[in-house]
Amino acid sequence: MSGFYSVGVDLGGTNLRAAAYRDGEIREAIALPTRLDHGRDSVVRDLCDAVRSLMRDFAPDHECVGITIGSPGPLELPAGILRSPPNLPGWDGFGLRDAIESNLHQPILLENDANLAALAELRAGSGLHSGLDSLCMLTLGTGVGNGIVLNGEVWHGSNGMAGEAGHAIVEPDGAPCGCGSRGCLEQYTSASAVVRMAKEHSSRLRSMDSLTASDVARMAAQGNLEAQAVFEQVGRALAIGLTSLINVLNLPLYVIGGGLSNAWDIFAPGMMSDLARFSYIYRITSTGNGTSQTATRTQIVRGELGDKAGLLGACLLPFTRSVARGTP
Ligand SMILES: [Zn+2]
Repeated sequence: MSGFYSVGVDLGGTNLRAAAYRDGEIREAIALPTRLDHGRDSVVRDLCDAVRSLMRDFAPDHECVGITIGSPGPLELPAGILRSPPNLPGWDGFGLRDAIESNLHQPILLENDANLAALAELRAGSGLHSGLDSLCMLTLGTGVGNGIVLNGEVWHGSNGMAGEAGHAIVEPDGAPCGCGSRGCLEQYTSASAVVRMAKEHSSRLRSMDSLTASDVARMAAQGNLEAQAVFEQVGRALAIGLTSLINVLNLPLYVIGGGLSNAWDIFAPGMMSDLARFSYIYRITSTGNGTSQTATRTQIVRGELGDKAGLLGACLLPFTRSVARGTP
């Protein structure tokens, strides 16, 4: 044996990515489409085949410290059962942990993908550079994920379902959401929400079948007023969501990641000025002026790890603790 490695998997609704990690770097990675139309047993088989393939390559010379599977939520922990996951239709009640462990014949760590992204930002991204050990992260992707890390540990709540700020209400009676409620943060700050809002704002955009959030961001950057109005709405909704998080949690760092954070320069100025109006805790703590010399400032930053945060967090988790089955 010449060292230790881990295996991380990011199980997404569209893509399945697996990686072997050693000496601070992802050494080998596998990317596959998530074959949801073939059924969940096929997806689990693909996932386990990818893990086995990576382990075959590393096993002769290295010891595996753990395997982490990152999954969309809601995920009941420690049981490892999916509860009506919007991005994995038909998987409600599925015992994902048991299915994977009985295929691999070994224990795994199972974690919500947004929690893993938050952990990665803490250990290898914005948290590392600021020397902090607590943060709250929002991942703006197809949906909006949320992870909260307190004193270096993911905060799971009683059932593993903490960190669902994507479904905090920012607009009562607003757009219907996959969670069954209306006006959730996700309905105003996700990539799919940007496309929906752009089509609501403009009949010209409504006629564009293949419109993406990146298209809308590019149009906003080029001065299109309708596209800019969409991102004003994104910034406003984020400010409302962050106000609640900051006022409740008083953490030092809030990280905005995911694909839509590429439009940071477009939505962040509005978000910051709204936040300064909405959150008195942010006003007091954002400059350090109102607090003592030793107090930590509240910072809102863009994520540094891009779309690999979830996969990297999955690789890092086994190194941050021993494999503790049953402990969420
Ligand atoms: Zn919702």
